[in-house]
Amino acid sequence: MKLKYCKRCGRIGTPLGMRAITNEALGLALAKELFSSKCRVKVRSFEHGNAKVEVEGYKVDEDSINFPLDLEVAMIHEICQDDYRRSSGYYEAIVQIRGNADKAQRLFKRIDKFLAARGAFIGKVETKELTGMDLYVSDKALLNDFMKRTKTKSKRSYTLYSVKGGKRIFRNTYLVEL
Ligand SMILES: [Zn+2]
Repeated sequence: MKLKYCKRCGRIGTPLGMRAITNEALGLALAKELFSSKCRVKVRSFEHGNAKVEVEGYKVDEDSINFPLDLEVAMIHEICQDDYRRSSGYYEAIVQIRGNADKAQRLFKRIDKFLAARGAFIGKVETKELTGMDLYVSDKALLNDFMKRTKTKSKRSYTLYSVKGGKRIFRNTYLVEL
């Protein structure tokens, strides 16, 4: 049994993306590897590459059964996409916050917290004397989600920055005036 493990952030690959190593995350990852997520895997213990688990809801004809299983788990070391992007200066959007410096700080902290909780990040912050700050954000879909949920008004503009497989890729700029 092999699982993806990122040495930089210490997270493992699960069907929900990279997650910190918890019994729950291990269970999700193992269920995907073993049964394409069709049944649940509850991890009882995980030590020295040995996982003792309970498989729940395994289908046998009309029945679904539970049974214990001992698994040897090897971690395949690789750098996850987030860390790769972080180190390569990747960004999809720039938030230009203008106006009151205290309010700008508060908005920055809220955006940072929102993104971090969802596996995205602000790769770079440029503070502009007197005018505000620019945030370089790794995930524009999540940023859109933040703007919508918090009803933050912004003026948007789009810059074409590459074409991949015939698809045009834009970087978004959000001007937020506080
Ligand atoms: Zn990582």
